[in-house]
Amino acid sequence: MNRIDVAGVSVSPDHYIGGRRVASDVSFEDVCPIDQTPLGQIAEGSAEHVDAAIRAALGAFPEWSAMTAAQRKPYLDRFAEEIGRRADAFCLLESTDAGVLLSRMRHGVVPRAMLNITWFANHALTLQDRPIETEQASHRVRHDPAGVVAIVTPWNAPLMLSTWKLGPALAAGNTCVLKPPEWAPLTCSLLADAADAAGLPPGVFNVVQGAGATTGAMLVGDPRISRVSFTGSVPTARRIAQAAGANLVPCSLELGGKSPFIVLEDADTDAAAATGALMYRNAGQVCLAGTRFLVHERVAERFVEALRRHVANLTIGDPREPATEIGPVIHPRQVERVMGFVERAVAGGATVLWGGGRHPFGAQYLQPTMLADVDQSDEIVQHEVFGPVLTLQTFADDDEAIEMANGTDYGLGGVCYGETAHAIAVSDRVRTGFIWVNSFGIRDLAAPFGGIKRSGVGREGGDWSFEFFCDVKDVVVPKKPFVASFAHR
Ligand code: NAD
Repeated sequence: MNRIDVAGVSVSPDHYIGGRRVASDVSFEDVCPIDQTPLGQIAEGSAEHVDAAIRAALGAFPEWSAMTAAQRKPYLDRFAEEIGRRADAFCLLESTDAGVLLSRMRHGVVPRAMLNITWFANHALTLQDRPIETEQASHRVRHDPAGVVAIVTPWNAPLMLSTWKLGPALAAGNTCVLKPPEWAPLTCSLLADAADAAGLPPGVFNVVQGAGATTGAMLVGDPRISRVSFTGSVPTARRIAQAAGANLVPCSLELGGKSPFIVLEDADTDAAAATGALMYRNAGQVCLAGTRFLVHERVAERFVEALRRHVANLTIGDPREPATEIGPVIHPRQVERVMGFVERAVAGGATVLWGGGRHPFGAQYLQPTMLADVDQSDEIVQHEVFGPVLTLQTFADDDEAIEMANGTDYGLGGVCYGETAHAIAVSDRVRTGFIWVNSFGIRDLAAPFGGIKRSGVGREGGDWSFEFFCDVKDVVVPKKPFVASFAHR
């Protein structure tokens, strides 16, 4: 199919299989969330495309997995360099396709995408066989590449999340098939151009575009897949876990959140409010945002007024403009979904402290919204909205704050502002995969990332990525000649 042109940036709409672009008879339309302009037709993956991509990945596996980490590293370093060489194109494409702020792409996402590749290429060098010596045997515990990895990513951070999985999977010696998000498929396609230019051997990295329910389901349910790494929503994760479970294939599931943002009585409320306004980043389409403000009743008024001032100053507009701080919601269906949450909450007695409706900038723009007078059992408190809609609840003491914080089915992250020792003590009792004390968004590739309860299964990051993407094998060599016996354990 013809390449797509987005403001002078050219990107392929086709799959990338075995080192070649592969077109499709069937396609779907990709639309810009900022102004609803059609961006182009994207190839839709059929069973044949999924099969071809898995065959290509299987074909490349013996050679790629037989290399040492040191031999793979130059390929991966070049891959990162080629991403960097296309930095402007990645920024413009993802901003136009997914509505992510261009400034955030340039200063946060693209450097991080490069680091996702180079950091794990380096870290793989430290993956040594682990010796265990006992009286009777020497054990050599190996981390072997698992095989072909299926990677499925969501639209809110396609480049960052795809590289976050590709980096360790490839560095560990696996080959990969990536199924990009159908609402924002362009930067994953450009990633294939970068891999190709870097000279990654054909079949090591493949991209099959298409819808989740069809292309994605065929990929994750294929018995030739050895690992499934998924980031997305809880309902999709259940389907993926069932499909992979049928083949007894391990899944890593990084899912949604309803994270608490706790403001203790001894918090610096101005600092907490400045951070609080960031929860509207990416129009609230951020899994790890603290979306439930839990504020001590004695500082609630002060905090809310400070937050109101910060929110009033936010610039809403085209994410490609440097001054913009909040862009569009990804899809008309998502706009309806978010507004449905707000309308039902208000009908149930919630008070709108600010926002509450659509924003005049465009059809897919919503006002940053804060809802108070909500109960713990309310839908708006219990379910992930994934839009610019936050809630406010107050508490009288730490126990009540913790009960509220832990009182949902989610357990991804959290934020806690307060005197440091106090905030740490409270954070220790919050049941989530991570929590930021007097801060937000600090991520380090060496640290584990993931959620508990409905927010996910497993951890990625640092050694945890390699634990997931590798098969652990114990090679046992006896220290004395071994005489077989039925009595022997
Ligand atoms: P989604 O679950 O609808 O889709 C995610 C991906 O899964 C897409 O590529 C989609 O095509 C694919 N998919 C859908 N059905 C499938 C199936 N049956 N088999 C295989 N693949 C399938 O999620 P979304 O709406 O794209 O993203 C938003 C969600 O992602 C939110 O819940 C958000 O919290 C979550 N998220 C989590 C993290 C994290 O790290 N925990 C990060 C970002 C987003």
